[in-house]
Amino acid sequence: MISTPLRKLDTLADTLSSLTPNDDLQRYCQDASGLTASGKPALVLRPRNTAEVSEIVCACHHEGRSLTIQGGRTGMAGAAVPNAGDVVLSLEHMNRIEALDTLGGTVTVQAGVILEALCRQVEEQGWYFPLDCGARGSCQIGGNIATNAGGNRVLRYGTMRELVLGLEVVLADGTVLSMMNKGLKNNTGLDLKHLFIGTEGTLGIITRAVLRLFPKPDRRDSALVALDSFDQLTSLLKAARAHLPSLSSFEVMWNNYLQAAARVLHKPAPFDGAYALYVLIETEGMESGTTRHELEAFLSGLIDTGLARDVILPQTHEQAAQLWKLRDAIGEILLTMQPYVAFDVGIPLHELPGFIERVTARLTQTWPQAQNLLFGHLGDGNLHLSTGPHAQSDLYAVESTVYQEVERVGGSISAEHGIGRIKKPFLHHSRSADELALMADIKRLLDGDELLNRQRLLDL
Ligand code: ZN
Repeated sequence: MISTPLRKLDTLADTLSSLTPNDDLQRYCQDASGLTASGKPALVLRPRNTAEVSEIVCACHHEGRSLTIQGGRTGMAGAAVPNAGDVVLSLEHMNRIEALDTLGGTVTVQAGVILEALCRQVEEQGWYFPLDCGARGSCQIGGNIATNAGGNRVLRYGTMRELVLGLEVVLADGTVLSMMNKGLKNNTGLDLKHLFIGTEGTLGIITRAVLRLFPKPDRRDSALVALDSFDQLTSLLKAARAHLPSLSSFEVMWNNYLQAAARVLHKPAPFDGAYALYVLIETEGMESGTTRHELEAFLSGLIDTGLARDVILPQTHEQAAQLWKLRDAIGEILLTMQPYVAFDVGIPLHELPGFIERVTARLTQTWPQAQNLLFGHLGDGNLHLSTGPHAQSDLYAVESTVYQEVERVGGSISAEHGIGRIKKPFLHHSRSADELALMADIKRLLDGDELLNRQRLLDL
């Protein structure tokens, strides 16, 4: 860190609704991962447009100041937590929805637009942006792109990567790279936007984006299915994919997770008896179409054919919302498990039963005091394992144990949350030495001085 005065930055600070260490900077020092900065940032700058972002980055480039890029700070891997003395560049004032193409079905936004605000606005125009996650009320589109966010509807619409048509990025030397493509097809060489999607702000700052929209579905139905075994689960997933073209979610909860969710919500468990597994199925379609009928026919066949033990089909939106509250209760559950580790791993479906058996056996053997709760977006092979309470000093060993098993089945140590600071020491469990070397070469090419989000994802 250099100690020369921030001359150019000081001048910028006067105009960019800046905050200094004399202001209350606490909210810029942490994110949803629970990690907190070791010291205060030197400055928080909140530009309103791309030109201002570029100016800030140029000034930092010349003065050798490192930057932390922040969206809604809802990330789970600590990437938005600044280093002490950093310049924080918050995109929160870049929250304009610039254009909605109601013919082509695209929307052009600034990076700081809140996900929920975007969804509401496009729905008013009869369109639909399908990304959804628990942080919808505060996460920002730029952060969703930088972390390649996933969530509950990936099964049908893909991750954020599949929803981005075009991007504008400010590079580490201040260059504005415009790739604001609007078409679905564009085979003109290297698709550069993918360098910035999912790379957590380490290669450039996402400032604007063109996103893909879908016709707005006008009905959504959910059902909760109870199962005895993992074999039933894989059969159910295959059958649901084959017979429910409108399938939009396939969320699995293990029994101990569901019971814990009912407890923290102070509700009775949804079924009278307890079963091994529960699947929350959601379909999306048109009121005039056959969606509801398809779902009812599918569910009524499940018990007859032995694919399920019991089924709840809500009759009202309120009843359906109650089921989704169980699935979304993880935040409340985790508060009762501190200190915990919340894993977000990707496991090939056929490896999942063996993986779960080995991991839970190893965890219970060494840490019998901890609960190991499981749920996930199993349609995408994405498992969330939450384990706790653990002694703070054991957390690293807990992580190592689980990631060794992930490596053994060729899985991913992060399916949707990213690497950030927290998973950086474990990245080698999922990526080869050659892959890591190439990633480092690309970082050197675009940001050799490590000005952008230093110490995240990988070190040079
Ligand atoms: Zn998730």
